[in-house]
Amino acid sequence: MLSPASLNICKILPICARTGNQAIRKYSVSKMSEPQWKIEKARLTKMNWADRRKDYKIKDYLTVDSVDPWCNYVVRNKGIEAKKHTLDDLTEFKKISMESGLNKDLGQKVSIFKGDITKLEVDAIVNAANSALKAGGGVDGAIHRAAGPLLQAECDTLGGCPTGDAKATCAYNLPARYVIHTVGPQDGSPTKLESCYEKCLALTKENNFRSIAFPCISTGIYGFPNRLAAHIALRTARKFLETNDHIERIIFCTFMPIDVDIYETLLQMYFPLHDWNYNDGNTLTE
Ligand code: ADP
Repeated sequence: MLSPASLNICKILPICARTGNQAIRKYSVSKMSEPQWKIEKARLTKMNWADRRKDYKIKDYLTVDSVDPWCNYVVRNKGIEAKKHTLDDLTEFKKISMESGLNKDLGQKVSIFKGDITKLEVDAIVNAANSALKAGGGVDGAIHRAAGPLLQAECDTLGGCPTGDAKATCAYNLPARYVIHTVGPQDGSPTKLESCYEKCLALTKENNFRSIAFPCISTGIYGFPNRLAAHIALRTARKFLETNDHIERIIFCTFMPIDVDIYETLLQMYFPLHDWNYNDGNTLTE
């Protein structure tokens, strides 16, 4: 049986046009065949969450509501408050000036999620991609495997992505709606890593995404130091959330135990669940 795509082959139709007395027979291509990824993207874009769920390839997906916001996570996971920051953490933390009156509010807008980012039903998951946007290893490989081959087909139309930049595609077979591909630095540049987070967050605004999940960009194969990467991720997220209220949740997906420990420690600084913050001066432990 023919697929809808193969039925959609280009049809050459004659068109008559007149120039003075002369009738010129012209031919035009009325419709080129649409690539399969475009057809599927258009179909998925029109669907609501309930309809999309019927199509999911996995049963163990997680909705945003089932991931604890940071304020609940702290209560449920005893012992987190015993995790203390270091002097180096304080030095890094002093680079941000925070609006402490927003602390309680913002504590409901961020989460730690321990596990596989491909299970999350969010508006967008972030992929730590390479600049060619070709399926690779690590989180990139996991995302491409779970999304299916149409993800690569769409990526192939984007002309790659420079380091520090971000581009969005459909997420196809994933429970997420979109994948934002960002290319982290391989040279340890904090500015480029910060740019990755900023560009991804800017895309949420442009596309009105309300939820986004980040892996620990660049800290795997690209070798960026985990702790500094977490400072950059949290500082950028905090700054963005203070001035943008379209986002309901930013999920930090921690796949390695080291990152769970770092994020549990540093979220207490960047998202304190009280009106004070560590930069107020009265709570510094040096
Ligand atoms: P990079 O090339 O940017 O370093 P990697 O994919 O090697 O990207 O690693 C980035 C982070 O993603 C690492 O912390 C790695 O442990 C984590 N990671 C790997 N697989 C997954 C996954 N399925 N879900 C979430 N995070 C993952």
